[in-house]
Amino acid sequence: MMDHGTPENESAAERKMRFLFALRSKGVTDARVLSAMERVDRGQFVRGLFAERAYEDMPLPIACGQTISQPSVVALMTQALNISPRDTVLEVGTGSGYQAAILAHLARRVYTVDRHRRLVREAQELFRDLGLVNIVAMTADGSYGLPDQAPFDRIIVTAAAEDPPGPLLAQLKTGGIMVVPVGQSDTVQHLIKVTRLESGYDYEELRPVRFVPLVEGISAD
Ligand code: SAH
Repeated sequence: MMDHGTPENESAAERKMRFLFALRSKGVTDARVLSAMERVDRGQFVRGLFAERAYEDMPLPIACGQTISQPSVVALMTQALNISPRDTVLEVGTGSGYQAAILAHLARRVYTVDRHRRLVREAQELFRDLGLVNIVAMTADGSYGLPDQAPFDRIIVTAAAEDPPGPLLAQLKTGGIMVVPVGQSDTVQHLIKVTRLESGYDYEELRPVRFVPLVEGISAD
């Protein structure tokens, strides 16, 4: 049976080839990003019924009513960050932990925060099982960043804000880059790349996207 052109008897190697091909066709050209995407198995970050769709280029539901982003969007955001191996990166919105795992292959250290304790706990277990020792995951309201660990070389926000949050702008190093989906509604959002200059910030609009909203405060679960 065919499902979106995906043969059910496809081997793991064929599946990986198709996954990487889909990323390239969406404009992911950076060899280091493609290699990180190849090394992290998205199937380990999706549970239950949806696990069989893990290698398709689509967002999928995870716990706490949240979503794991579409792989091509993860790759394009990572590419826009232009991470160097010495960088310390902050991610706001741990979710499944997939994006953080990709970042961990490219950066020196990754801090990732989510407002849902359950998501942070489950991601921490995965990072431990996968030996990703350079990720520190914490429950926090990421709109305020992590003042104790700041400043950061790179910041990635994986939930949509009305504007790039001020505390995050302030926690970016000079020359640093932040990628953040910005939009007033659920339907119209744009991915923005912010570069901190010697004085002020440069803003570049990258592409339309659709993310769950950045919500204030820590959740009860
Ligand atoms: N990067 C994730 C996908 C994130 S979905 C992945 O790779 O799977 C967006 C996440 O942002 C959700 O888990 C949501 O709980 C979290 N979030 C929303 N508002 C937040 C806030 N103020 N602080 C921290 N996390 C937040």
